[in-house]
Amino acid sequence: MKRIEDINRKIMDGGALVYTADEFKKMVREGERIRIKDVDVVTAATCAVMSGTAAILSIPVAERGAFERVEKLWLNGIPAFPGPCPNERVGIVDAIVYGTSRAGEYGGGHLFRDIVDGGKIEIEAEADGEMIRKEVTKEDIQFSRLFTTRSAFRNYSGFVNTREGAVETIFSVSGLKGPYREVSVSGCGEINPIENDPSMRTIDACSRILVNGAVGYVMGEGTRSSKERRNLSVFADMGGMQAKYMGGFVTSKGPECITSIAVPIPVIDDGVLANLRILDGEIGLPIADIHDRVAIEESDYGRVWGGNLEIYFDEKECTECDVCDVERLCPTGAFSMLDGMDVIRCFNCGACVDFCPGGAFKGNLGEVEIKGRGIPITLRQSNRKRASELSEELKGRIQDGTFLL
Ligand code: SF4
Ligand code: SF4
Repeated sequence: MKRIEDINRKIMDGGALVYTADEFKKMVREGERIRIKDVDVVTAATCAVMSGTAAILSIPVAERGAFERVEKLWLNGIPAFPGPCPNERVGIVDAIVYGTSRAGEYGGGHLFRDIVDGGKIEIEAEADGEMIRKEVTKEDIQFSRLFTTRSAFRNYSGFVNTREGAVETIFSVSGLKGPYREVSVSGCGEINPIENDPSMRTIDACSRILVNGAVGYVMGEGTRSSKERRNLSVFADMGGMQAKYMGGFVTSKGPECITSIAVPIPVIDDGVLANLRILDGEIGLPIADIHDRVAIEESDYGRVWGGNLEIYFDEKECTECDVCDVERLCPTGAFSMLDGMDVIRCFNCGACVDFCPGGAFKGNLGEVEIKGRGIPITLRQSNRKRASELSEELKGRIQDGTFLL
């Protein structure tokens, strides 16, 4: 049995034994004997489309006394909810913005990334019957805090369309084609934080974590969290976030929000150590019918993450279609014929592998078995590569003593 205080002391002394979940799983796969004295902390992470993300912002829009209170508000065209404080006659508006709010194909997730990236944000505020227009950047926003109502689900579901036609859904970019033609999946499998501590023995309200690269905290379990499929509610200041861990993801039902979370798992006893041994192939992935979201098959994450984590573009194989479907449909806007692939913006979702008739996008997304037939995975709504990067970042901060448990 180890105490958190003892691990923190080792971190401060520079002697803590810290591994990313990827490194730890590699040792497990290689059959290494890992004892409790060999490891103090494992950093686990996830990066995914997380609908339950929102932000609270406090924005000065006019001088004191210019208006009584803001009634309606838009940021880059995205509707926000002014309040709860009315900020009567102080020229400031507090507001909540949902990651899934939208202005066409631009959504709250895009807005959060643009704020963090230092872009100019156009404010339109309706106050006392007048419209106030103003441009701000993150330096002008007095308070910006991102929170999640639910995130980092222990394991998610895959979705299939069991009927003829295509179903427009947040789980597909161009409509989920049926019957049984493709599967869309989510979840970072063996590196997901709760998967590594399923009964949440070391993850609790006030646990210090990274959210989009910024230090944040767990508030507790999130909405729809259950003993079998727990998730987290978290928050962090947007000031310390990095754009590469967040953003918008445009589905066939509109924009969604990308969020990344890394959690340190302190190895306090043999029970925690045993849970960290879980591998992709042992983690269940229910495949649900998109029409009612009821599971019809059980697969596992070994089938999802056994291929490439990264998607590559091979320019030589582009046949220059009249209209490039990848440029038109890439959910993060990461590809254009002129500039090629923006690897920072790319979510490695793999949708382009299916969209591109020339086969210029390379990546093995795997397949799942449903009713004895192999059905290809055509969309991943989790970016395991980026999650691994965040777990590396957390490991680095623990090792240099700037992040304590
Ligand atoms: S869809 Fe593929 S082959 Fe066609 S223009 Fe785009 S990249 Fe080239
Ligand atoms: S994997 Fe392809 S479709 Fe997905 S974000 Fe990257 S470039 Fe766009």
